[in-house]
Amino acid sequence: MKQTSTPASAKVWTLIQISDTHLMDQPELEFARMNPEQSFLEVVHDIQQRFPYIDAVVHTGDLAQVAAESTYQRYLQFMQTWNVPHYQIPGNHDDYLAIFPFYKNSDEAHAISFGCWTLILLNSAVKGRVDGWVEQKQLDQLEQLLLEHSKQYVIVACHHHPFAMQSHWIDQHRLKNSEALKDVIARHTNVKMVLFGHVHQDSENEWQGVRYLSTPSTSVQFKPLSENFALDQAQPGYRVLQLKDNGEYQTYIQRVVLKQAKINTEISGY
Ligand SMILES: [Zn+2]
Ligand SMILES: [Zn+2]
Repeated sequence: MKQTSTPASAKVWTLIQISDTHLMDQPELEFARMNPEQSFLEVVHDIQQRFPYIDAVVHTGDLAQVAAESTYQRYLQFMQTWNVPHYQIPGNHDDYLAIFPFYKNSDEAHAISFGCWTLILLNSAVKGRVDGWVEQKQLDQLEQLLLEHSKQYVIVACHHHPFAMQSHWIDQHRLKNSEALKDVIARHTNVKMVLFGHVHQDSENEWQGVRYLSTPSTSVQFKPLSENFALDQAQPGYRVLQLKDNGEYQTYIQRVVLKQAKINTEISGY
């Protein structure tokens, strides 16, 4: 007879990665001639429509374009009304690490478990710098957490890109000690993927059986493979992760068609 009940082990965990919201200190202000607040809200609306039941939202940094207390307070208030577990890691634009709503201390690696899956959050932001660096202390903690969670399937997240995007200006701002991070990860067989933002575009690389995945910004996009700074007309988006307790998973980018007018790609910097 066909089994109709769903065994507990069939639970699929749904995680959503958003990144690079670049929110201003006041909601009506524009960044790169686009209102990031509006596009963020439209992206969240799309998530809520498509995924009414999610287990967590992970924000991989550059939460603020204007790193003021009011920016973070507004974000947190919004997330509380959404009422989903949410975790944030800082990006290079998140200057005020003291007021950044990190999970715990910003200089420590943290593990959060969802059934047989564990998400490890790292801070790659360095005060006053655009490029990234994961401190040795956190790499040691990562090593320890990977040992402690050796029976779990692991996702590691940081803000900066550990892989070259083949885009000269962006690659100057990459994770500068990415080899050290990749070496720690390569010593363990339980890491499935590394998630990051910062590059404002979708990308995928694989190295030693681990997938390295970036996610578009919820606001403006950067033009892939561009030598110099350039914006792209691609729509904002987010990453969907659907995780099964047997280690199987699927992940993909969902783009969102915005109501607001096309962005102006003529600006020379951000
Ligand atoms: Zn950014
Ligand atoms: Zn960034």
